[in-house]
Amino acid sequence: MGTTQYILSPREAYIAEQQWRVVKRSVDARQRELRVHLTILTDDKGNPVPKDAPIPLYEPPVFQNVHNAKRSVVIIGAGPAGLFAALTLLEHGIKPVIYERGKEVSERKKDIALLNRNEGLNPESNYCFGEGGAGTFSDGKLFSRSKKRGNMQRVMELFHYFGAPDTVLYEAHAHIGSDKLPGIIKKMRETILEKGGEIHFETCVTSLKEVTGDGLRVTGAPIILAIGHSAHDTYRMLAKEGVKLETKGFAMGVRAEHPQRLINHLMYHVDMTSRRHDELIDLVGNASYSLVTQVDGRGVYSFCMCPGGHIVPAGSEAGSCVVNGMSASHRNSPYANSGMVVQINPEDIEGDDPLRGLAFQEELEREAFKQGQAQPAPLNPPMKGGRSSAPAQRLRDFVEGKPSKDLPACSYLPGIVPSRLDEWLPAHIGKRLQQGFRDFDKKYPGFLTNDAVIVGVESRSSSAVRIPRDPETLQSVSTPLLYPCGEGAGYAGGITSSALDGINAALKIAELA
Ligand SMILES: Cc1cc2nc3c(=O)[nH]c(=O)nc-3n(C[C@H](O)[C@H](O)[C@H](O)COP(=O)(O)OP(=O)(O)OC[C@H]3O[C@@H](n4cnc5c(N)ncnc54)[C@H](O)[C@@H]3O)c2cc1C
Repeated sequence: MGTTQYILSPREAYIAEQQWRVVKRSVDARQRELRVHLTILTDDKGNPVPKDAPIPLYEPPVFQNVHNAKRSVVIIGAGPAGLFAALTLLEHGIKPVIYERGKEVSERKKDIALLNRNEGLNPESNYCFGEGGAGTFSDGKLFSRSKKRGNMQRVMELFHYFGAPDTVLYEAHAHIGSDKLPGIIKKMRETILEKGGEIHFETCVTSLKEVTGDGLRVTGAPIILAIGHSAHDTYRMLAKEGVKLETKGFAMGVRAEHPQRLINHLMYHVDMTSRRHDELIDLVGNASYSLVTQVDGRGVYSFCMCPGGHIVPAGSEAGSCVVNGMSASHRNSPYANSGMVVQINPEDIEGDDPLRGLAFQEELEREAFKQGQAQPAPLNPPMKGGRSSAPAQRLRDFVEGKPSKDLPACSYLPGIVPSRLDEWLPAHIGKRLQQGFRDFDKKYPGFLTNDAVIVGVESRSSSAVRIPRDPETLQSVSTPLLYPCGEGAGYAGGITSSALDGINAALKIAELA
């Protein structure tokens, strides 16, 4: 078997994809005419292999029955890191016992609907906490293909095995979508339970002694700590119980939202009102972007861009306002949103407390909440208390330091209110963002427009804490048999790298005698 690479027009690529076994696909928007790079599997004679040829896509996983397994592992957190760790343990005949503070995915959906209707935040069941973790109601971008950390393709294969589309196996910028992810996560849970693993929902671990001492509690079992980066209370518990933590660099800023047609025009060089626009988008999907610049020695960059998506309230604490973005599988809302963040280094924050980054995030999130309550949100009436409404400013007004008299339509369901983000964002973030947007407009003239809006604050784009671990054993440097992993441990960022980190922790445990 071999492969052949082709550079095709979008229509040619679309037709080829229906016929042949594609092993790699990427859209190249660098030239004026869009091109699709396809790599197609070929047989020994060099002929393309038909899409439905009886050749397995990959070796399917074999999950063992662990009802009577001799070994158990406690997993705290059922996000990508925790779930992929659990699946890997099953492959090695070890019983996973998962504790998850949030609810199972269908119950979690109801709490998220209430939040979007301004009927209150459940601090234990929201966009961050609950089955599938922060990845469940997301865009489901599966970007990182880095081979450095391990077998990333295996992550894609497991997602596919549990119901993700074929594209996750070959698309350079694959994504699943928030409408499909809950079903995939549910199937993972069903497999874990059917094979004899345990999942305890609505069980927040408030002390490590709970899972090492008596009770259910699996005495002496290794613990995979996969808590994500939003469980600030759990970090504080870990610090109190003597687990070594250290501060790390992170990033904060806002979410910017443009009309999607404008982004398609800027990225694909196509007249946004033409029929050609609609035909092109049918073939290759709405455009995304990835932007980066340096301002006063700090990176300013786009983060987690969601074409055809929605801005969502992604906080987990009452009295704070945090935004993020998600898209459904078809990415077909009229809006394009992206985090726009500024790199923050540990030395930017006074003091030597390893948790000072968390306090810094919380302070800005409380200010954003206060600003978001300042006046009734003009969008999406009726409001019931405006609890999740977020502060916003038109993009050009923000850069030019002017108030916005009104705001454009926005995908953020709880509603946005006009606010002077240019005035209340800390200068080291606000000023750098202003310059960053000017730089991005030089690259894509028209990007800096008052048809776009920024919404505050995007404060949880990465973990502000690391839980240091031994690079060989992957155990905490202070606490034997504790395996910090995923985004919350500070060793991953995003769904795929967190999932892979969970797999790696489980493999290390499987190696133990
Ligand atoms: C709205 C949104 C959109 C996103 N979009 C993308 C995207 O498109 N692509 C991408 O790669 N990444 C995206 N991300 C980031 C991605 O979701 C995270 O990087 C990833 O989920 C981290 O995985 P994790 O398993 O390390 O932690 P998490 O997914 O955060 O999971 C941690 C779990 O631990 C549980 N937990 C925490 N503390 C405790 C405790 N004390 N006891 C019991 N349980 C506990 C939490 O409830 C949670 O379910 C998005 C995030 C959000 C919020």
